Amino acid sequence: MDAGVKISGDEEEFPLLETRHIAELDRIVLSHAHLDHSGYLPYLYKQGCDAPAIMTKPTRDLIQVLLADYIRINQAASPYDEKDVVHLLKKTQMMEYENPLDGVQMYNAGHILGAAVTELETGGKKILYSGDINDRETRLLNAVKTGYTADAMIIESTYGDPLDRHPSLKDAANQLIQLIQATLERGGKVVIPTFAIGRGQEILFLLENYMRSGLLQDTPIYLDGMIGKVLRIYRHNALFLKKEVQHRILSSEDDPFKSSHYRVPQTKDRSDVLQQEKAIILATSGMLNGGPILHYLKHLGPDERNTLIFTGYQGAGTRGRQLLEGARELQLDDALVPINMQVTEAKFSGHADFQGLTTFAKSVRGLKDIFIVHGEKAKSESLGNALGKIHKSARIHVPALGEEIRL
Ligand SMILES: [Zn+2]
Ligand SMILES: [Zn+2]
Repeated sequence: MDAGVKISGDEEEFPLLETRHIAELDRIVLSHAHLDHSGYLPYLYKQGCDAPAIMTKPTRDLIQVLLADYIRINQAASPYDEKDVVHLLKKTQMMEYENPLDGVQMYNAGHILGAAVTELETGGKKILYSGDINDRETRLLNAVKTGYTADAMIIESTYGDPLDRHPSLKDAANQLIQLIQATLERGGKVVIPTFAIGRGQEILFLLENYMRSGLLQDTPIYLDGMIGKVLRIYRHNALFLKKEVQHRILSSEDDPFKSSHYRVPQTKDRSDVLQQEKAIILATSGMLNGGPILHYLKHLGPDERNTLIFTGYQGAGTRGRQLLEGARELQLDDALVPINMQVTEAKFSGHADFQGLTTFAKSVRGLKDIFIVHGEKAKSESLGNALGKIHKSARIHVPALGEEIRL
């Protein structure tokens, strides 16, 4: 289930998979497209794996874009190349939500387009794998499905600490709009780093909505990096979006994907964007590891009228985390750039918070083993403690890297 790359700080990390294990795989399940889950999959095929890879259609569409981009950025440092991606795509088996196939069943996870909670029956046991989940309905997606029965559960713990509590979507939206208004009023530009898939699309819809209803002044919204391409994939997979979004797409004059406010930069040096009197810029990458966002920071960072708004998790050791922790200059290429712009965070998240994770876990019956993964160690342990109190007879594991456990 999943094989990603860990992109944070300078060094990428890969799963500790041994070649003998790779050769033995008979099925691969991919929960969703984010690179921390999908980024290593082509390597398995390079190592001689020929197993089917099970995923939803949007996940298949999205990894096609993401993996190509990963190879392009990493060049020779990439552990695989295009032909391994082609091999993976050839072996892809597409699943619909709630439609079982060979002992695998997937359910809406609410996290990004096509993200799945996976139920797997194997060796007479049922294993539930949460993948990344969001327990709140967003502008585009329904909340994660709850209510399962399983012998073992593997659950994420990104926000596994009891202190991790997300504000309501409404409060987060109001806060974001206020920040943007204030910036535009003092003649500044708004820069929003986004991941290619996830919050970016949600925020775009939020902005479009507020401008449509007149609550936010008409301002060009620039989409830079892969976010535009991904937006098209969202639209093509409307069946995986909320019903009301599907209706808006069908009644074409209300299609939220075709707003007149959306723009794409026309020049390589983005001078057309930078020359705008006002602009809201959404650009990748989300943690400032690379991508066009760095170009904007170089030009807009020194001006205190501008605002940088983070909208997602900033991994330890990333430029994004540095800025949030108070750094006021950034090394960009060979220049040390002063960051005088306002740096802040809008609290949107594609992940459930502590309350959401425990509510999801509570809805699962029959658990004998719970594995806590996908979180900083202290958060995984906190969540483990909480789940131990809910599922009193279950064994709680916070596995170490490379640890093997037999069910
Ligand atoms: Zn994810
Ligand atoms: Zn993840």
